[in-house]
Amino acid sequence: MTTAGSLLEAMRSQTAQRLADLRGDYRGFVEASKDTNADDEHDPEGATIAFERSQVGALVLQAEAHLAEIESAVARLDDGTYGVCAVCGRPIPAERLEVRPTATTCVTCAARC
Ligand SMILES: [Zn+2]
Repeated sequence: MTTAGSLLEAMRSQTAQRLADLRGDYRGFVEASKDTNADDEHDPEGATIAFERSQVGALVLQAEAHLAEIESAVARLDDGTYGVCAVCGRPIPAERLEVRPTATTCVTCAARC
C-alpha cells in the first residue's frame, strides 16, 4: 500500500504540474486571441489560435479529470477502500493497480461496464 501511495503521490504532483503548464498555455492563447481578430473566420491567424486554444482547453479538462481520479484514489487509500473493486467488492489484482493506479474496478467489472 505504501508503494501505491508514493506512486499516486508522484502522479498527483506530475499531473498538477502539467495542469499548471497547460493553464499557463491556455491563458497565453486567450491573450493572443485578444490581439487578433479571432471572431473573423477569414483571419487565418485568428482561426489557428482559436483552434489551438480549444485543443489546449481540452487537454486542461483531461488533466483536471485525471487529477480528480488520482485524488479520489488517494482518498480511498486513506479510508482503506483502495484496491477494492467498487462493483463486486473483490480485491483488484496488484498487476492492474500497477498499470492503472486509479482503477476503481477489477478487470471483470470494468469489461462489463
Ligand atoms: Zn469487480
